[in-house]
Amino acid sequence: MVQFKKEEKEKTDFRDRLATIDEKGSRIWVYAKKPKGPLTFWRNIVGFALLIFFFAAPFIRIQGEPMLLLNFIEREIVLLGVRFWPQDFHLFFLAMISLMVFIILFTVTYGRIWCGWACPQTVFMELIFRRIEYWIEGDAYHQKQLDKQPWTAGKVFRKGLKHAIFFLFAFIAGNYFLMYIIGLEAWIGLVSDDPLKHLAGLGGMVAFSAVFYFIFAWFREQVCSIVCPYGRLQGVLLDRNSIVISYDYKRGEPRATFFKGEDRTKAGKGSCINCTQCVQVCPTGIDIRNGTQLECINCACCIDACNSMMDATGQPRGLIRYASEKMISEGKKMKFNARIIAYSAVLIILLGVITFSLASRNSIEATILRAPGMLFQEPEPGKISNLYNIKLLNKTNEDLPVEIKLLSHSGTINIIGGDILVKQQSVGESVFFTILEKKDVNSDKIPVRFGVYSQGKLIEELTVSFVGPNMP
Ligand code: SF4
Ligand code: SF4
Repeated sequence: MVQFKKEEKEKTDFRDRLATIDEKGSRIWVYAKKPKGPLTFWRNIVGFALLIFFFAAPFIRIQGEPMLLLNFIEREIVLLGVRFWPQDFHLFFLAMISLMVFIILFTVTYGRIWCGWACPQTVFMELIFRRIEYWIEGDAYHQKQLDKQPWTAGKVFRKGLKHAIFFLFAFIAGNYFLMYIIGLEAWIGLVSDDPLKHLAGLGGMVAFSAVFYFIFAWFREQVCSIVCPYGRLQGVLLDRNSIVISYDYKRGEPRATFFKGEDRTKAGKGSCINCTQCVQVCPTGIDIRNGTQLECINCACCIDACNSMMDATGQPRGLIRYASEKMISEGKKMKFNARIIAYSAVLIILLGVITFSLASRNSIEATILRAPGMLFQEPEPGKISNLYNIKLLNKTNEDLPVEIKLLSHSGTINIIGGDILVKQQSVGESVFFTILEKKDVNSDKIPVRFGVYSQGKLIEELTVSFVGPNMP
């Protein structure tokens, strides 16, 4: 009875605490076995493509603008070469809200695919830092043995080399992170100029490098389980219909050791041979056979590990697979049902909204105001003029000539100082007179509509008041 209770407790222990924390609250270090298999192969391809993008993007310029600049401190945001001005922040805000809704819907439908396939934490950890560890210390078993060994010269050398390379990569990643925030030019200035002039920037560089080193050398999977808000939200985002990495307990249980040539069905055994390969490859140290857990980053390593065991024992693949809890409990295979199709359609529409709102913003923004403190003038008999200030924001990467036309009345516009040319990525101002026929000004204040044109194209229409004499 006592033995039974102990086993029962062990089975449900995973619900009490994280797999990487013991009963006393101390960290249990995860020695993840090197994964291999088709999903790992494709995950590596995606990860390397993302790494190439991460390291190349700061050097890519689109029409003279950086591809990506996220300087939130100075409100300088550039996405795919499109610079967002403070005037565009409503668009940026809308795009971010749409993106958040997109992420929520995506997670409800497809679970944590992002975490396992594209999250920078996973990509850096698995494709750079864990590889360095395998290269220097060997696979999980050898790493464990090395940690148990006393401190010999060989161990000091291997640990020292590993951490030196870890710090080098953390330093490189930290510098790139900084480039994304301050821009390539500012970063070059930072590393080539007098350090005393850039103490804040250098402080940021040291802080980012130290944080990255701490995360990848020690904190690792704890980021996903404890710190990451997206990871913490999984409990409320996932439901029975979400596609996650699932163990088919209907098929797998009762788990039992495999014996060559046996008929497992006749022997009353499930497909799981209790080899624990799925646990050994798990980078977060969990046993997926306990069901979906907070720590699971959907990396699919356990799918590859289990499929190779299924092949080796002559059983069909897919004991662990991408499936929803509902599919597993009803014994159904993964298929695109109405819910997934409907959510995917909403996701596509949201992506369209984001793209459209970013693409359709005006390249020039204009404001026209009557010159303060000025009333009307009568430059010649039968004519009335008003003085206006125009402010123009050119968001493009070329200098733009600007024309102002009267759309609502026939009249004349006299720009003081000649033609307007607004320099790229800057604000321009000018002053102009609008002269109307007195007969058209039938009250002391009438609305007039101006068209702001550049290179023959109407950019913006603005309606402003025009003042005239009091009518009897
Ligand atoms: S349970 Fe499987 S998918 Fe989840 S983190 Fe572990 S290995 Fe990756
Ligand atoms: S790898 Fe597959 S067969 Fe082995 S323990 Fe895990 S689920 Fe069972």
